[in-house]
Amino acid sequence: MHRPAPVRRARTAVTALLLGLAVSLPTGPAGAAPAAPAPAAPAPVSAVAAASAAPRYGQRSSAVRALQNRLIAAGLLKAELNTGFFGDSTRAAVRALQRKAGLSASGTVTAATDRALDRAVDAATGPRTWYHRETIGTSAEGRAIRAYRAGQPGKPVVVVLATMHGEENFGQYVARGLLEGRKIKGVDLWVVPVLNPDGLVRDRRWLRGGVDLNRNFPHRWIERANSGPKAVSAQETKVTMRFLDRVDPRYVVSWHQPLIGVDSYGVKDRRLMNRLSKGLGIKTRRLDCHGSCHGTMTGWFNAHHAGAAITIEYGSTARSMARMKGRDANAVLTAVGGRRG
Ligand SMILES: [Zn+2]
Repeated sequence: MHRPAPVRRARTAVTALLLGLAVSLPTGPAGAAPAAPAPAAPAPVSAVAAASAAPRYGQRSSAVRALQNRLIAAGLLKAELNTGFFGDSTRAAVRALQRKAGLSASGTVTAATDRALDRAVDAATGPRTWYHRETIGTSAEGRAIRAYRAGQPGKPVVVVLATMHGEENFGQYVARGLLEGRKIKGVDLWVVPVLNPDGLVRDRRWLRGGVDLNRNFPHRWIERANSGPKAVSAQETKVTMRFLDRVDPRYVVSWHQPLIGVDSYGVKDRRLMNRLSKGLGIKTRRLDCHGSCHGTMTGWFNAHHAGAAITIEYGSTARSMARMKGRDANAVLTAVGGRRG
């Protein structure tokens, strides 16, 4: 069932796919999230320049964010620093990479730096656990939404979802941790590291049209600013529902940030909640959407499926890459009844 670990080049490609780098498109400053810190002196970057030239200090672009995502994956930059702005912290990470690779620590991304970063990401990526990958649908802007399958068919089905809100990039590293390392056993595991690839590229919560994916599901849906014109109006909502209806998991674990908590609001399986809370070292918290939740994925799943879906929120600052991909990924695996073999 498990294939041997792929060659190093293939692992880099896998990592790039997981990070959404392969589907990055250029965006101008308008694509940046309002929460991102503004550059002291914004440098206008044309889409053409962003697509063709290496990112440079002082720039803000999706190419910078793609660079940052690779630095994060290599363990050289904290995961909350994928701002899209090439400032001091990004330059320091590039310099650290260059020193490690024996290059001149200029902080400028040269072709040799780019190759060294490929190798650094590769070195930080373990052998893959998954044996099947498929595109479960596409985003509104045409990006692939990919699911990976690991573990053992016939065992209880578990789904781990992340980055439903594009600016919430931490959970994808827990997801990635489950796709690397020693074999997964005891569960039939599906992982969707990036449910909202359009949002990830732009560091933006919303789907196209300002729709919040987690307010667009057909359970207690109400019309309001970001819930969409009607329930299931968004393509990503349809993709998610079709996928979950098909694999019909016993457990769905859905990662968000920054409210730090394992959700106790409308909880369907308290034992799962408590196991996750204990294993992750994250307290339970009533994530009630400022009153009551409408149109959420977990609400819809819990009402329409026998299985249990639960939300986990990381905080506003990222745990270390080793913690997210290692201990936290394994805590999720243990909580859902799986193990490493
Ligand atoms: Zn969220």
